[in-house]
Amino acid sequence: MIGHIHSIETCGTVDGPGMRFVVFFKGCPMRCLYCHNPDTWEPAGGEDHTADDLLERYDALKEFYRNGGITATGGEPLMQIDFLLEFFEKAKKKGIHTCLDTSGIFFNPDNPELMKKYEKLTKVTDLVMLDIKHIDPVEHKKLTSQENKNILAFAKYLSDHNVDIWIRHVIVPGITFIPEHLDRLGYFLGDLKNLKGLEILPYHTMGVAKYKNLGIDYKLEGVEALNNDDAVEARKIIIAGIKRRRAELANASEQTD
Ligand code: SF4
Repeated sequence: MIGHIHSIETCGTVDGPGMRFVVFFKGCPMRCLYCHNPDTWEPAGGEDHTADDLLERYDALKEFYRNGGITATGGEPLMQIDFLLEFFEKAKKKGIHTCLDTSGIFFNPDNPELMKKYEKLTKVTDLVMLDIKHIDPVEHKKLTSQENKNILAFAKYLSDHNVDIWIRHVIVPGITFIPEHLDRLGYFLGDLKNLKGLEILPYHTMGVAKYKNLGIDYKLEGVEALNNDDAVEARKIIIAGIKRRRAELANASEQTD
């Protein structure tokens, strides 16, 4: 099977634990206003690769990845779920740590055929970095052009299937830096059993030049990068929401014991 790949990074240090072989998949149906990879949106183009040739490239440098592994990111890797599945199944056979960086937008519990693939994927994925863009359905749609119902369902599915989850959340001044929404996000995350990490990504403007090159309007023109203090504050609010939900769950379970 052929995968359509935007690019490969052989020394990735920010997309999962340790040093990683990072594969950027082509194609994404979301249109996040702050996306800094608009060049991955179109499914066409890019490089064609097989799972075997990607793994050959990994193997050539495998000493580097002793404490890391492979990360599939994009774009949206789940847009090519058959290829992703083959890639991760082959990687797992070699004992490689696999990480999926996704928005979860393609998850659909109402599609039984697709769900069979997700069942398989959970068995060969060690970690999912799930980018929850916005907890509020209306704001999510404004920010990404898509609904968040299935994304939140995916988070719960991963929790039920014992897959480790890191949540990534981009904090944009005036858009996601809203205390009430951050608290709601934390409260939602408090229900996830396998939550292993929370990564706050402060909004920055480094991708803006790509929009000019591609001739796409950059809709966040004029929005300033988030400062460090606000990023720390946002994290605190989310963590307080997680703790509140976990305390509720602990109380409820004491009462039923
Ligand atoms: S999901 Fe990721 S790749 Fe897709 S538009 Fe959003 S930020 Fe960009």
